[in-house]
Amino acid sequence: MARLHLRIRLRSRILIIVKKFPSICHKPISLAVIRIPQPKGMISMTQNTKFDVAIVGGGIAGLTAAVYAAQAGKRTIVIEKQERMGGRAITNHKQGHYFNLGAHALFQGDALATFRELELNLKSGKPANEGHGLWKGRLSTIPLGPKSLFTTPLLSIKGKLEFAAWFAKLTKLQTHKYDQISVREWLEGSVKDPMIRNIFYALIRSTTYVMAPDFQAAGPVIQQLQHSLHGVTYIDRGWGAIVEELRQRAAALGVQHITKQKVVAIEHQNGAVQHIRCEDGTLIEADHIIAAVPPAAAYQLVANAEATSLRTWKEQAIEMTSACLDVALRKLPSPKHQVVYGIDQAVFLTNQSRASHLSDEGAQVVSLIKYQGKGSDADQDLRDLEQMLDLTQPGWRNELITKQYLPKMTVSYDFMHLERQQNPGPAVPEISGLYVAGEWASHGEMLLDAATASAKRAVQQIISREGTGKAYHEHRSIV
Ligand SMILES: Cc1cc2nc3c(=O)[nH]c(=O)nc-3n(C[C@H](O)[C@H](O)[C@H](O)COP(=O)(O)OP(=O)(O)OC[C@H]3O[C@@H](n4cnc5c(N)ncnc54)[C@H](O)[C@@H]3O)c2cc1C
Repeated sequence: MARLHLRIRLRSRILIIVKKFPSICHKPISLAVIRIPQPKGMISMTQNTKFDVAIVGGGIAGLTAAVYAAQAGKRTIVIEKQERMGGRAITNHKQGHYFNLGAHALFQGDALATFRELELNLKSGKPANEGHGLWKGRLSTIPLGPKSLFTTPLLSIKGKLEFAAWFAKLTKLQTHKYDQISVREWLEGSVKDPMIRNIFYALIRSTTYVMAPDFQAAGPVIQQLQHSLHGVTYIDRGWGAIVEELRQRAAALGVQHITKQKVVAIEHQNGAVQHIRCEDGTLIEADHIIAAVPPAAAYQLVANAEATSLRTWKEQAIEMTSACLDVALRKLPSPKHQVVYGIDQAVFLTNQSRASHLSDEGAQVVSLIKYQGKGSDADQDLRDLEQMLDLTQPGWRNELITKQYLPKMTVSYDFMHLERQQNPGPAVPEISGLYVAGEWASHGEMLLDAATASAKRAVQQIISREGTGKAYHEHRSIV
């Protein structure tokens, strides 16, 4: 390996090479002039083509990191293995209807603040905070505000008073005090009425996508509940619009990208990153490399990762998955039931079309989620979700235009739980110039908020190590 690197270095000194590869806006950019042919797929190792920052993975974490790195004047490239950028945030445009990869909502956290800071041109809608609960096969108003608390049949008068007191208290809780206890310890220890606890478990599932109350840390969950009290935001034309905006912003800043290019190794020598190796043999040299890929992928890409923190981060990770059914309906058979939280079942239904544009044909795009624990049965999950539709939208099959079923989507590769030994990143301390980003690299944030926050942490660390000052304004605290 060392000899190969030496050979590459020597070649690069005498060759001025050019490699064409697509820019982020799909137009090829010529980086230099080819004088002597380079082996296929090899990117020049000259000063001309060495990147300041190379990012593996073009999901929202990778794209966010790319924008901030480029804003800080860094020569930046993103390498994505799929045909299009976006990772789990892509949107499928099917017969005029926009399907995310399952129900996706923005909370009032880091991601929304980041997109506002970047002035992304996103159109969106905020639905009213109201819905129904599914309990023992029946649908009832679920308490999500003063009016629904008054009308819900799920709680006794005493329960309603306790619930009201709880909601008032929730906004003021210092979340960090609850970081070391589980969601179950928190709820069982502080909420008397068992039905209030059941409702909270349902709300927590739908705002965190995690079904692990015995080891999910309560502090970050309370913070997510606080965010959700401000309502959620649904994006017109789905989350693909966010991806497209970030992609365009990165392109305007000169970020380059390669798609359909799988990275097979992040190589390092003498404790510092050297380059990225792609499946077709392309080498991309960079001073800093951000692995914006899942923890197991980051571990696998880095030689001798077992001697680094990547091992701990991979081993401590607990993956959460969901079955996702999305349907486009000509009209809603039961307009009353646009949002339904399963209370005694781990299911959730939301009609995001009530607040955002998800169909060019004026159809209603309804998303259903089944939260999965260990072991899942794709056929059974689909039956459960269809049953939920039968109950909430009877006759939906007559209105069906098209659907999408994803039996097992990874919603998060890790989250804040009590078995965590370390919060991952931003730097991999054992290898200079190597960083991680992604929703699993959370320092307390949840889902997409963790993806954007971890991306910014990585760029911030790159910049602060180089002593070039701050790259961006941090919304809540300095990372
Ligand atoms: C069903 C579902 C519902 C969700 N709902 C919400 C929600 O309501 N709110 C919320 O905030 N979040 C939600 N999320 C989570 C959110 O989608 C993710 O947190 C976010 O999209 C993760 O972005 P990322 O960049 O960290 O990872 P990813 O999107 O997974 O991006 C990683 C990228 O790396 C690429 N890659 C991997 N290996 C390689 C390699 N070797 N070479 C090159 N490229 C590679 C992958 O192809 C991928 O594009 C949901 C997710 C799902 C699945």
